[in-house]
Amino acid sequence: MDFALTQEHKMVVDMVRKFAAEAIPVIREYDRKHEPAPLLPRMAELGILGVGVPVKYGGQGLDYISLGLVCEELEYADSTLRVVMAVHMGLCAQTIFHWGTEEQKQKFLVPLAKGEKIGCGAFTEPGHGSDFAHIQMTGRREGDYYILNGEKMWISLATLADYAIVTVRTNPEAEKPHRGLSTFIVDLHSPGIKRGDIKGKLGVRAGSTGWIAFQDVKVPVENRLGEEGEGFKITMTAFDRGRYTVAAGAVGLIRAALDASVRYARERETFGVPIGQHQLIKQKIARMARDYEMGRLLYLEAGWQMNQGIRATRITSMAKWFATEAAFQAAHDAVQIHGAYGFSDEYDVERFFRNGRGSIIYEGSSEIHTLIQADYALGYRRDKPLRIELPPYDPEEWQ
Ligand SMILES: Cc1cc2nc3c(=O)[nH]c(=O)nc-3n(C[C@H](O)[C@H](O)[C@H](O)COP(=O)(O)OP(=O)(O)OC[C@H]3O[C@@H](n4cnc5c(N)ncnc54)[C@H](O)[C@@H]3O)c2cc1C
Repeated sequence: MDFALTQEHKMVVDMVRKFAAEAIPVIREYDRKHEPAPLLPRMAELGILGVGVPVKYGGQGLDYISLGLVCEELEYADSTLRVVMAVHMGLCAQTIFHWGTEEQKQKFLVPLAKGEKIGCGAFTEPGHGSDFAHIQMTGRREGDYYILNGEKMWISLATLADYAIVTVRTNPEAEKPHRGLSTFIVDLHSPGIKRGDIKGKLGVRAGSTGWIAFQDVKVPVENRLGEEGEGFKITMTAFDRGRYTVAAGAVGLIRAALDASVRYARERETFGVPIGQHQLIKQKIARMARDYEMGRLLYLEAGWQMNQGIRATRITSMAKWFATEAAFQAAHDAVQIHGAYGFSDEYDVERFFRNGRGSIIYEGSSEIHTLIQADYALGYRRDKPLRIELPPYDPEEWQ
């Protein structure tokens, strides 16, 4: 078993680490203002928005492990930067890469991977999040078009994206609700679309999270991903990709909380010694160090499985569940270590704590991942082959 990163992995980590460090002052400013930080153009320029897609489709030709490493580095700085990769790459670009026809890849994936266009994934509705099979938004076929009506809610990059992967109900009569869904690539500049940002969020304040309303939006039939009725399956694979980025990002958040805590624990003194000398502080630091290693092994295994062409749903769900809970615990402990200073935005740990709360809810809440893992262990759930599998990483093909 080879645990070493390649030269290419190390280069992409160095590049993104440098970008993320430079982004921190901008993030602090926009987080305080509750406004999306204007960092997408720089991410596009550096090629970050194309990590995880082959060169022939406009990407960097870097593998799934690179995508995880990029997410870890981005969330070390701020969750909003990683959210960009979760939705632009995980939910949108890689879903087109997985399920799209050659024409769809040329038309939509190439500009997305080049960073010329921004993508998002619009699945959640005001009344349905975890219970996705029962979404209400409709798509009615009329000749060469589908007419979309309904609302999507809590959509990351809602106001910044050009394209969205959208799943709607195309067959209200389907015997089972999840069989009546279909997925589309929607141009968010189409007539009939209105969108806005949600105000007053607990975290990811330097990013866009919003709503998208669709009123009689005409989407050409050639924008449908996969077959009619395949929307549930396609969406679940989009979640696999999104969850992978969230897991890797959460590992970056643990490392950020750990580094900040170590710095502070060495400086701050109580009872005549640095607080790092107190056993109860050591316990918190030790837990962060342990969880960082465990979370990293889990997401790297998921990345490795995808590189090999192995369906990584189970390990990805486990990585996401473990790493996001551990990240929130780490951020919580980091605030505690900072005492009253941790309670103010003078220190980054306050932002880590707010941001870490969200990832326990999105991309499958912890409750949903608990159920998924129990069902795998009990033999109630197993992954069946898909009609189209996610392409494995092949350096010859990708670079
Ligand atoms: C910051 C942020 C960004 C987001 N970005 C996106 C995005 O880009 N695209 C997108 O489509 N969505 C996005 N979401 C939405 C997110 O995916 C949903 O919030 C999530 O799926 C949970 O759905 P819900 O909020 O409707 O909660 P509900 O499904 O209503 O659940 C409420 C509570 O009940 C629990 N629960 C539900 N079912 C069960 C069960 N069977 N057993 C036990 N407990 C259960 C849940 O875990 C939760 O604690 C985002 C959300 C946030 C907060």
